[in-house]
Amino acid sequence: MYVDISTKHIVSIPNAKEKSKLSVEFSTDSLCVIWYAVINNSLKGIDQMKKMTAWFMALLMGLALFTSSASAESGQPGRGKNRAPIVFVHGLGGWGEGTKLNDLFPHWGMTAGDVKAYLNGQGYEAYAASVSPVASAWDRACELYAHLSGTRTDYGEAHAKIHGHARYGPSYEKLGPDWPGESIHLIGHSFGGATIRLFAQLCAGGSAEERAASPANELSPLFRGTLGGSVVSVTTLAAPHNGTTALLEPVKGVGVGLIEAALYSMAALDALVPGFGAYYPVHLQQFGVDSGATLAELAQNFAAFDQSADSARHDLSVDGARAVNQGIRCQPDIYYFSYAADMTRKAQRGRAPKRSISIMLLEPSLRMGEKREPYATPGGATIDNRWLPNDGLVNTISALHPFHEPHRAYDADNVEPGVWQVMPVVTDWDHIDFGGGLRFGGAAGVMEFYLALAGMLEGLPK
Ligand SMILES: [Zn+2]
Repeated sequence: MYVDISTKHIVSIPNAKEKSKLSVEFSTDSLCVIWYAVINNSLKGIDQMKKMTAWFMALLMGLALFTSSASAESGQPGRGKNRAPIVFVHGLGGWGEGTKLNDLFPHWGMTAGDVKAYLNGQGYEAYAASVSPVASAWDRACELYAHLSGTRTDYGEAHAKIHGHARYGPSYEKLGPDWPGESIHLIGHSFGGATIRLFAQLCAGGSAEERAASPANELSPLFRGTLGGSVVSVTTLAAPHNGTTALLEPVKGVGVGLIEAALYSMAALDALVPGFGAYYPVHLQQFGVDSGATLAELAQNFAAFDQSADSARHDLSVDGARAVNQGIRCQPDIYYFSYAADMTRKAQRGRAPKRSISIMLLEPSLRMGEKREPYATPGGATIDNRWLPNDGLVNTISALHPFHEPHRAYDADNVEPGVWQVMPVVTDWDHIDFGGGLRFGGAAGVMEFYLALAGMLEGLPK
């Protein structure tokens, strides 16, 4: 099952680059850690907001310069056969097209370059959707629909009532493809996995609760159950299908705490600093986290969101993921592919991270890999030693496939819809490397990986 990704034709990774990057990866990752620390500390005083924003922008500019030397190559457009547009959906903390941040530092590619532009240059129609970096799978699926359709986000009357937030959210400019007129391939990284699985489910079946709560003329088409056939395939990359112990006590530690602090600081900046949302929109207006709120209201509204069962934090937990999964089933006409990674090695205390793991993932990987007696989550799931291997943020076992859905090992000669085709476990990329990585020059083989993936998807039967 565990196969070094570089030995597989599906994703060939040149080894030479792997050696040369090691001497410089520490400095780039360190910058990111410093960035998180600065943001975290700066939040202690609102009067330091401007200083913090300046720090943030300076770092972005620096990263943009790093990436400029690794920008996309031009290719040969027009090649191919059964080619549906590809839509990338980011995970926790990510961003996409339509944000100024993506112009400076593309989320899909990061320090490796711009994956979308690279694929476009190779003749593939590819887009990078932009949804909330911290909202729940449901809210993000609704935003994905709004982005693909070019409309105002409708989270649904029933959902909004249950979770005590506004029904409507941000308005989007239409993302490129002529969807739903033409079907699309969906590729989701990390929490983008739950987002696209739920989105595909809603397209096919809609929501009975929403249909009961709104008259037909006020119902979002996403909830009607009439968009079946508009998604060709769902591919997940390092997605915590069954939740992650990175967010689970007693495993949760300072590394994840820093990442959370950074994300939630971004939400505060979006609400408080005019123009910040154009760079990094956090999209929590439905919870009252917006510029109209006073500082006290902002803190109160954010805390209510953060502790609710309608947030990324909830849906990424083991129990939260189980709840999300209850409403999702593999659709018989959609192809499903999943990639999981394991960046750990055997160690006395369980599994230890490999030396080449991104430094910001070192601490969470250590904690997640630590051997302990099996324990139960509050919702009753059992966490045992099968959960120790991880990619730095997601347990390998969780990323293979949703526990409750049909699955089998990928066989290039026999690919079927309605069942997860589980790819060989990737052993030389960590969680962030799937997006391109934060190492200087990017993770090795990023463009080759996505080109091979796009090629595989275009080869799927119609
Ligand atoms: Zn919601």
